[in-house]
Amino acid sequence: MTEEAVHLTGLSREELERFAEGMGEPAYRGRQIFSAVQRRRLRSFDEMTDLPKAFRERLAAEAVASTLTVESRYVAADGTRRYLMKTSDGMPVETVFIPEERRDTVCFSSQSGCPLQCDFCLTAKLGLLRSLTAGEIVEQIVIALNDAYGVGAKTPRGTNLVAMGAGEPFLAFDSLMKALGVMADREGLFIVPNRVTVSTAGVVPKIKELATIPERPHLAISLAAPNDELRDRLMPINKRWPLHELLAACKEFEASLRPGERFTFEYVMLDGVNDSDEHARQLARLLNRHHLRAKVNLIPHNPADPLPYRPSTEERVESFKAVLEAKGVHAFVRRPRGRDIFAACGQLAARGGEPNRPALYQIS
Ligand code: SF4
Repeated sequence: MTEEAVHLTGLSREELERFAEGMGEPAYRGRQIFSAVQRRRLRSFDEMTDLPKAFRERLAAEAVASTLTVESRYVAADGTRRYLMKTSDGMPVETVFIPEERRDTVCFSSQSGCPLQCDFCLTAKLGLLRSLTAGEIVEQIVIALNDAYGVGAKTPRGTNLVAMGAGEPFLAFDSLMKALGVMADREGLFIVPNRVTVSTAGVVPKIKELATIPERPHLAISLAAPNDELRDRLMPINKRWPLHELLAACKEFEASLRPGERFTFEYVMLDGVNDSDEHARQLARLLNRHHLRAKVNLIPHNPADPLPYRPSTEERVESFKAVLEAKGVHAFVRRPRGRDIFAACGQLAARGGEPNRPALYQIS
């Protein structure tokens, strides 16, 4: 295999047709490869027995069907699974599979580490290692689905994806969009953008760009604070794009919302920091001022050393929610999943399953 081996999992069906033709093969060989890596979710050429052996050998010399290796797999008491993987150049990648009654969800990472330094997030402690490629994004989902349903089993219709793992998805925008395009193909995984939610810390230009894409995923925005002073401290990206710019971009994006679709604002609830009734009133004012078709997900903070925050109490969360609802803002409380295996929001930092187990990657 050469240094420049092509990662086939990140290629569209058409690209694989061209790839096969480039190898002097008919285009349908490319479609066969696409079906093998996407629909049947095969990760090695040896398993692709519908391809002639000689072709498989040539493929193995020029391309790869998988690049991620699963280092550890943790299963939480609530059935949530966290996969700690490594890229071929040794970067940690984390993916979480969340079983749900009606539809399962895969939460994937867009970057290894994250450059955005949100103060309540453990991933921030890693810093940015690098953005992931489209192939690495698709492969995370393939690995999680294979573990849940078995290799070759049909991907259940309605499977949800959320780009809420490590990293800021809009800083890996091209890879992300490419991966979503590949996964939407009905001859492959067939997970359409309408089943995907991308969560951003507030990269304003990309919110505007996303609005122009016809087949786009849903948008969620992590707010964490109802005013600039507090948000500057909790999410330093706010100094670059403060709340009035962020909300103005949301207003622009609103024109692209489909019937019945809403924005989601995520609000991590930090005990004694951003969870008072006054904060709730400020948040309601902020959202109502912009007349946004939005709902707010209240997410009790997931504690993890060395983060200095504690989750808000249940009573505080309920009181905060009641204030929002009284002001006409739709609010929901999100139950944390997989906290005991460091799989919950803001906890992904290439850790082992136990608090004292060494991290795969050293947090500085
Ligand atoms: S919350 Fe998201 S954007 Fe902020 S540091 Fe963590 S991974 Fe990055």
